[in-house]
Amino acid sequence: MNTQEIISIAESSLMKTYGRYKIVLDKGDGVTLYDTEGKTYLDFCAGIAVFALGYNNKEYNDALKAQIDKLIHTSNYYYSEPAALAAQNIKNATGMDRVFFTNSGTEANEGAIKLARKYYYINHGKADSEIIAMNHSFHGRSIGSLSVTGTKKYREAFEPLIGGVKWAEFNNIESVKASVSEKTSAIIMETIQGEGGIYPADEDFIKEVRRICDENDIVLIFDEVQCGMGRTGTMYAYQQYGVKPDIVTTAKALGCGVPVGAFCANEKVAAAFAPGDHGTTYGGNPFVCAAINKVFELFEKENILSNVKEVGDYLFEKLDEIADKYDFISEHRGRGLMQGLEFKMPVKDIVAKCIDSGLMLISAGTQIIRFVPPLVITKKNVDDMIVILTGVLDGIE
Ligand SMILES: *Cc1c(COP(=O)(O)O)cnc(C)c1O
Repeated sequence: MNTQEIISIAESSLMKTYGRYKIVLDKGDGVTLYDTEGKTYLDFCAGIAVFALGYNNKEYNDALKAQIDKLIHTSNYYYSEPAALAAQNIKNATGMDRVFFTNSGTEANEGAIKLARKYYYINHGKADSEIIAMNHSFHGRSIGSLSVTGTKKYREAFEPLIGGVKWAEFNNIESVKASVSEKTSAIIMETIQGEGGIYPADEDFIKEVRRICDENDIVLIFDEVQCGMGRTGTMYAYQQYGVKPDIVTTAKALGCGVPVGAFCANEKVAAAFAPGDHGTTYGGNPFVCAAINKVFELFEKENILSNVKEVGDYLFEKLDEIADKYDFISEHRGRGLMQGLEFKMPVKDIVAKCIDSGLMLISAGTQIIRFVPPLVITKKNVDDMIVILTGVLDGIE
């Protein structure tokens, strides 16, 4: 099939939920993607912060192939070695006590909301709980996770969503305090907001939120679906804040491309779930867990965290220079290999031009370009990216 045929079949068969670029990706190698026309792209998107190890990593691929030949799926009614080890790996990485596997980040947040509500229900003897969520947050597109997603245009057409959600301003502790009541079961937030525009939480804010939760027996949920798994230089971003949540949700880079997520909780909160309270058919099957285990092994072996710190700092310097150079860029923010440039105008055309020029980028919101490359990128890759980006930005009036 040629490129045009593939696009036309897809256009006539898929739901129109995405405005897709007119390229067909065919294969990947390291930080390079190839389309069906043989054109290459330097990847600073990683399938939206997923493919941390780079494409076509031989050890990762071999581990998946071996598990395919052994056992792909069973049910959660039985144990499997890959799932036991993956749960242990996630416990060690998050500092949580118990893990529930899901198929996506959205579903991890659904589970987190359910667990927090159950915890409240047990402690209060009634089901009238509220959740505090942040403006500009993103937690997913299902009804539950959409209900706590702080972008009105994503929610509006799908209301009524779940009730009892109160909105607070990210990094504004007074607005959180104003929303707390005896009915507050949970506060849910990203440690570093991703889709909303790459906004890191302030340290004071996050510590104060933790204190409020402790004082009022409120479950603190950190959604680390995007900023977790090494992206900011520690396995989980909250580890840089000296604060631990009660529930963590994780996905995206967790399986580096196989669909898997998890929500994890400390013993106190996890104890609220009893058999029958929650479930999933696929979640945490041997295949995806073999991927998780190999990801953790390779993170260690390839010193991913120190690479993120080193190359992340370098990227920060280089993007600072870019932000200084062009008047139409208003701000540069981020941590590690999760950074954003905010423009004074929409970035859609700029992103399209970068892709045309062989640089895979993605926006966050309408005015922010997001940089979430594979975590194995090098300084040389950063230099190459800057050359392409500068070429595109120089062409802007
Ligand atoms: C991507 C994302 C989600 C949703 O994850 P899916 O795997 O797409 O369901 C939830 N929260 C955050 C912070 C995300 O970045």
